[in-house]
Formats: sequence, structure tokens, C-alpha cells
Amino acid sequence: MRSDRTLIGKAYVASEAIALRRRFLMTIISFGLAWGAVMQVPAMLGIAPLGAAQTRNNLLFLILSAGVLAMLWRWPRSFGVGAVAYFTAAFVYVSAAQFLVVEDQLRMLLYFPLIGAVFLIVGNVGAWFTILAAIAVFVTARLMGLIPVSPLAVSTFVFTLGVTGAFFEAFSRQMTRTLDTIARQNEALEAAAKKDHLTHLLNLRAFRESMQAHVDGLRPDSRFSVAFIDVDHFKAINDRHGHAVGDAMLVALADTLKGAVRKRDEVARIGGEEFAVLLPGADLAEAAVIAERMRAAVAATRVEAGGTTLGGTVSIGLAAYDSSFDTIDALLHAADAAMYEAKKGGRNRVALAGPAAISPTA
Ligand code: GH3
Ligand code: MG
Ligand code: MG
Repeated sequence: MRSDRTLIGKAYVASEAIALRRRFLMTIISFGLAWGAVMQVPAMLGIAPLGAAQTRNNLLFLILSAGVLAMLWRWPRSFGVGAVAYFTAAFVYVSAAQFLVVEDQLRMLLYFPLIGAVFLIVGNVGAWFTILAAIAVFVTARLMGLIPVSPLAVSTFVFTLGVTGAFFEAFSRQMTRTLDTIARQNEALEAAAKKDHLTHLLNLRAFRESMQAHVDGLRPDSRFSVAFIDVDHFKAINDRHGHAVGDAMLVALADTLKGAVRKRDEVARIGGEEFAVLLPGADLAEAAVIAERMRAAVAATRVEAGGTTLGGTVSIGLAAYDSSFDTIDALLHAADAAMYEAKKGGRNRVALAGPAAISPTA
């Protein structure tokens, strides 16, 4: 289990969203490069000659695009810098058509897809800034006589840019809202997938993940112990009082166990009437003290359910993690085997795994 996989909910969706935007940007640049090449080839063959300024602008823009594309490929984290560099260059390129290449004014139409892409990739503020800058360039070019169009055409241009901006603003807001909803749902699903529905403790999956995180050194304490807890003669409680009372007993035991451990210990229900506790930082001796506290707390607990008052006991097996365990399942198995020894020793007791084998404490 890699650490970045534990990023859930919002953080996870945010990194996904950046990856999506990065891919979108790379697609735009790739299409731009292909389109530039198509423009450039006939010009170089003399079929549709471009002016010197256009040729220079095209080549500069294509080289810069290829550079940004290579940068995004090589350094995915440079997404923000790459996006700003590319869109600034694209903006200057389109604007240059109005200032440098007067006969090529139609290239100003490229403002429109550019604005859509800026909304989606860089965000609303950057996009409105682009729109204002485009209008400023256009109006200045018109005032300088570079674009001999009517006032109606100027207003159409400004109005259409504004409408395009409003459209993409609404679109990107809707997209953000959708991503937020997905993030919240992901968080809820992720939390539900880690929980045991009856006791609201961690379930086996979450418990294994947590053990693995300790083994992988992803938690402050790489030293830890595991307690395997099995309720004694639980079948008899079910048989005598019914399944619902058995369930109420499990819920009460879960609360008792939680109350008996330290704040940082993680209590899980890993099977029907089986619990496990991860004890960070605890060696076998320290774990034995906590386990004895759990055993005594359960033995002292009285549960009111189904019109009766019930008591119960647990048998606890302990194992401390060390590098001789190849897998977390081997560790859990060692704690389970120790628990079995506690059963054999008479139940309602704690047994330790290890070379000293069994040393029941009750
Ligand atoms: P031992 O001391 O040897 O552990 O005896 P035991 O009766 O607890 O052991 P056994 O494994 O034979 O019985 C476990 C029982 O737990 C069997 C099953 O009916 C009951 N059980 C398992 N899951 C649940 C559950 O979710 N709710 C209830 N009420 N009972 C459950
Ligand atoms: Mg059992
Ligand atoms: Mg049992």
C-alpha cells in the first residue's frame, strides 16, 4: 500500500483533477503543434506563402509549444508554470496577428478556444483577465487603424467574448461543484468501507491497512503489538438469549474495549465475535499491561439486553511485530495462536506469542 493511495476524498479528487487538466493541456498543445505543422508545410513549399512576420511568429510559437509539451511530459509537477507559459505565448501570438500581421486579422478568432481552455485549466480569474486583455488589444488595434472594421464589429467582438466568458464561467463552476460532490461521496464511501456496521469499530480491511502502514514505516511508531481478542463461550449467549442479545453484547464489548485502551490504540472487529487491537509503540510487556486492562474491564462489564443482565469474558493473544514476520497476516496469525493458547489455558486470560511461548496473566 503506497502512502499516496491513502489520500482520500477531496485531496484525492484534487490530484485527479490536476492530472485531468494536465492531460487536457497536453492535448491542446499537441493539436496546436499539428495544426501549426499543417500551416507551415504548404508555406515552406511555396503553395500558400506566409509573410516573414507570420513565419517567424509561427516558428517561435511552435518551438515554445514543443518546449512546454516536453516540460509537462518530463516534469508533471510543473503543470502550473507550463499552463501559464503556454497561454501567455498563445495570447501574445494571437494578439501579434493584429499588431504585426494586419492582413491576418482572422487569427483573432483563436481568442475564443483559448478562453475556454484558460477557464478550465487555469481558472476563472486568469480567464477574465485574458478576456479583458484581449478586448484591450483589439480596441487598441482598432484605434491604431490596424483592424479596419466597423464599430458594430467591435461591439460584436467584445460582446461575444463576454458571452463566451460567462458561458465558460458557468461551465467551470458546475464542474467544480460536481467534483466537490464526488469528493464528499468518496469520503463517505471510504469511511463506510473501513467501518464495521454493528460496532462502528474499524473492520478487518482497515485494520490490515493500519498494520501495513506501521510495517511500511508510514506511522511515527514502527514498533507495535497486536492483540487478538475472542469472546469466550459466545455461542452459548446466542443460544440462550438469541442473536439480537448477542449483537447487543458485541456492541457493549466494543465500547468496553475502546474504554480500556490508550487514545492512540486502534480497536477493530475482525470477525463475528473476534476483535483485534493495534498497540502502537508497545512492546510485548507494555502490550500485556493494556491487554490485562481490557480483559479485566470486559470481565467487570454487565450488559442489559433482552430483559436480562449478562456478563462475559474474553481470551486475548498478543504478538509484538518484528522483522521475523514476513507478512502482517503472519503477525495476526501469531496473535491468534497465542489467543488459542489462552483458551486452552482456561479462557478469560492473556497469552503472549514468542519464544517464551505462553505466560498467561490471569
Ligand atoms: P470459545 O470460547 O471457544 O470462543 O467459544 P465460542 O462459543 O465463542 O466459539 P465459537 O466460534 O464456537 O462461536 C462463535 C459464535 O459467535 C458463533 C456465532 O453464532 C456467533 N457469532 C458470530 N458472529 C456473530 C454476530 O455478528 N452476532 C451474533 N449475535 N453472534 C455472532
Ligand atoms: Mg471465534
Ligand atoms: Mg469465541
